[in-house]
Amino acid sequence: MRAFVTGVGGQDGSYLAEDLLAAGYEVDGLVAPGIPCSPPAGVRLHEGDLADADAMAALLADVAPDQVYNLAGVSSVALSWEQPVLTAQVNAVGAIGLMEAAWRVQQASRRRVAFVQAGSAEMFGEPASAPQHEGTPIQPVNPYGVSKAFAHQAVAVYRARGLAASSLILYNHESPRRPTSFVTRKITAGVAAIAQGRATELTLGNLDARRDWGWAPDYARAMRLAAEHPHPADYVIATGESHSVRDLVRIAFAHVGIADWERYVRVDPTFIRPADATELCGDSSAARRVLGWAPSVTFEQVVEAMVTHDLDVGQA
Ligand code: GDP
Repeated sequence: MRAFVTGVGGQDGSYLAEDLLAAGYEVDGLVAPGIPCSPPAGVRLHEGDLADADAMAALLADVAPDQVYNLAGVSSVALSWEQPVLTAQVNAVGAIGLMEAAWRVQQASRRRVAFVQAGSAEMFGEPASAPQHEGTPIQPVNPYGVSKAFAHQAVAVYRARGLAASSLILYNHESPRRPTSFVTRKITAGVAAIAQGRATELTLGNLDARRDWGWAPDYARAMRLAAEHPHPADYVIATGESHSVRDLVRIAFAHVGIADWERYVRVDPTFIRPADATELCGDSSAARRVLGWAPSVTFEQVVEAMVTHDLDVGQA
């Protein structure tokens, strides 16, 4: 079995490639030209622009994968406010271009091509009810969410056309491979720096925002389970527990033995977003029931693993 993974140099792509290689797949991966990354050994790398539909169609025809995973894109809500057009080009137009390319491979080869889209809970915007599920209304409140909503709905269109396409509605998922532009890693790297005397304060935005934070390798495994399942469908992938940014800060500081964390944290309005969901929390019962998926790591363990990693990096 051959899998094609876009965004293979990123957090999710690298964990997914490791998972697929361990499961015996051959893995081809797409990386954006000129962006430094270190994908896992054993991945056959291709450089290319996801938003170039003709290039993607030619590449997929050449690779002829059994499974296509679309993980590339502008991955940050914060960046999507600065680059809304690029976000739409890559996350929305790029996604449908890749679905079309996968569809053509299936038509030409007359064998099933599974497609998995890395979707996002951000498409729910500021949801009226919690936890959210696959039927929760799609009402994004930022450019990132609207681009992910388009890709999610395009998956349903291609599934109806006969492509084995699934959209995974992923809630926040973290690891030491997260860049510090995300709040989890910003906090764990900042806390490690304070503990080791390399910094004196941590500057953050909205401490009251609540997110459902899971462990990235668990979310990568969910993607493979969806591709391998005989029936394509959409699934919420989440832990079902939400925590505030403030909880995250407190747990990270507690891990380095600092209880009076307020002394080190400053709120800077420049990190407060034009629109920000108050709480995202997902109901993954369909994925648990149909795919046999479950998260394997608790929120506290995610935070501790990241702080421990950042302490090690800081010491090196
Ligand atoms: P997102 O959910 O994909 O946007 O992931 P982030 O990790 O970037 O943000 C998660 C939540 O943390 C959002 O509600 C942000 O508003 C909040 N947050 C609070 N302070 C910060 C900060 O300094 N940086 C980032 N990135 N997010 C912050």
